[in-house]
Amino acid sequence: MAAKILDGKALSAEVKRTVGLRVDALKERGIVPGLAVILVGNDPASEIYVRNKGKGCEECGMYSRTIRLEEMTTQLQLEEEIERLNADPAIHGILVQLPLPRHLDEAAALKKILPQKDVDGFHLMNAGALMNGAEGVVPCTPKGALYMIHSTGETLSGREAVVIGRSNIVGKPMAMLLMREDCTVTVCHSKTKDLSEHTRKADILVSAVGKAGFVTADMVKPGAIVIDVGINRVDGKVCGDVAFNEVKDVAGWITPVPGGVGRMTIAMLMSNTVDAAERIVSGER
Ligand code: NDP
Repeated sequence: MAAKILDGKALSAEVKRTVGLRVDALKERGIVPGLAVILVGNDPASEIYVRNKGKGCEECGMYSRTIRLEEMTTQLQLEEEIERLNADPAIHGILVQLPLPRHLDEAAALKKILPQKDVDGFHLMNAGALMNGAEGVVPCTPKGALYMIHSTGETLSGREAVVIGRSNIVGKPMAMLLMREDCTVTVCHSKTKDLSEHTRKADILVSAVGKAGFVTADMVKPGAIVIDVGINRVDGKVCGDVAFNEVKDVAGWITPVPGGVGRMTIAMLMSNTVDAAERIVSGER
């Protein structure tokens, strides 16, 4: 039987609707939630992501500002810009679009963002909070992926979850979130032996690798929830890590690319920004 599609367009619209209502409530108190995105250089993919983030803010009634810095910006200039935004009361969320040009130190820049304005959830304080099960900002992509998993209505406690990929921005926080849901979590990476041995046991399989067609039907347990985080370009077309056409005949649920996790990432960024505005307004810094 063909898998049910986890529709990122519909689910992200649901999240943005709720965010919009919270934005309206803040506006009644004279506060407009604001997101600042810093874009260094002219990477074409980053340009598209930044444009989509601006559009998301518009849809939710939020203020957005894009700060464009030239490719040859120094570390000091970048960090000064972050400091200005940290101090700006119109800005509740700050995001540095990654990847940065090679000469810049990504980790040092992210550390400069005030943790309460770190709507990407990449600051060490927020990463640590997630690790410890404390309150903090959860990175948008894994948060969005979890929302999609919840939308299936399946019980997660005690289920086998396999995450392929161990990056700080997707794989690791995804694993933490699934562990928080009482799943038994296995994290696979490029040195994992017999990858399919692991993936075939997964009730929930999340792929965050960045290789088109990487997850094939023989790697998937019948009925599994398959979440495709990958964004790849093949012959000018965007596709995920999962060989969608064959895996959909085995999985119980599957996310498409495009129209899947990417949409949820933007919606969760909006959600994290309104969270930040509410926290700052209530003095919970
Ligand atoms: P990284 O390149 O940082 O991480 C990729 C991971 O895949 C690494 O942990 C790597 O292992 C693992 N890997 C690579 N080859 C294999 C292999 N043969 N077998 C098993 N594991 C392997 O990427 P990101 O986490 O930043 O992103 C992953 C994908 O998700 C990309 O396509 C990216 O574009 C996409 N993405 C999508 C978003 C969205 O909104 N939908 C948001 C963010 C990212 P190792 O650690 O050993 O090198």
